[in-house]
Amino acid sequence: MGKIMSIANQKGGVGKTTSSVNLSAGLASLGNKVLLIDTDPQGNATSGVGVNKADVSHCIYNVLVEEVPAEDVIVSTDMVNLDIIPATIQLAGAEIELVQIMSREMRLSKALEQLQDEYDYIIIDCPPSLGLLTLNALTASNSVIIPVQCEYYALEGLSQLLNTIRLVQKHLNKHLMIEGVLLTMLDARTNLGIEVVAEVKKYFQEKVYKSIIPRNIRLSEAPSHGQPIINYDPKSKGAEVYLELAKEVMQSGERVG
Ligand code: ADP
Ligand code: MG
Repeated sequence: MGKIMSIANQKGGVGKTTSSVNLSAGLASLGNKVLLIDTDPQGNATSGVGVNKADVSHCIYNVLVEEVPAEDVIVSTDMVNLDIIPATIQLAGAEIELVQIMSREMRLSKALEQLQDEYDYIIIDCPPSLGLLTLNALTASNSVIIPVQCEYYALEGLSQLLNTIRLVQKHLNKHLMIEGVLLTMLDARTNLGIEVVAEVKKYFQEKVYKSIIPRNIRLSEAPSHGQPIINYDPKSKGAEVYLELAKEVMQSGERVG
């Protein structure tokens, strides 16, 4: 049975989508069958793997709100082993529409029951909020990866996220674990970057991945070409570290029961 991991942090711009796309592509390149699920109405993960939002007739919205079977919404990408359930702007209405639905936090979890056997990893890119879309993602997941940007106030807001994780564990998904904390956009030339790494390690200890994502211009260019970094520029530092991260995630597979 595949492992389902959410990439979550309610702060915007911390590297959730970049990490979702490139961890998925890294895992796929190492021979794993991977399904990426875009749950952000902005659909950046969708376009980031080269899927044109204008061409998709169904997206995660139809799965969550209309109970369309998830397998009917899967789109394959140009990468071997990597499929995606896309998001389009239609998803923006889901937060409100879901409120009136029974078991509204369980929709994604139910939808993935049939799919978990088909994939080695299912990676869910969360929106920048702790609303019903993120709750659905956390409820459906075995574990959560928290990206933390190496910037001032890196830890700010994390207690809110950790509190939400605890609430999900208590009421919706008692098996949810913290898979790891991923430091992103490190500028190793600055003292600030080094200080933030130390601060986050002090707080999260062995949960922090050894792979630290550097600030790398190629990573920010790749989405506009609709390509994960290992296709866009396989020799870049960004490609190298996301591949390292994929290996680290594979090795820690046993940590989650
Ligand atoms: P989130 O999904 O958390 O909002 P994104 O992954 O979209 O964050 O990243 C925010 C912005 O920063 C995007 O423009 C992205 O291309 C850029 N970015 C993300 N990670 C890096 C990195 N390691 N180096 C340079 N730019 C990055
Ligand atoms: Mg995003």
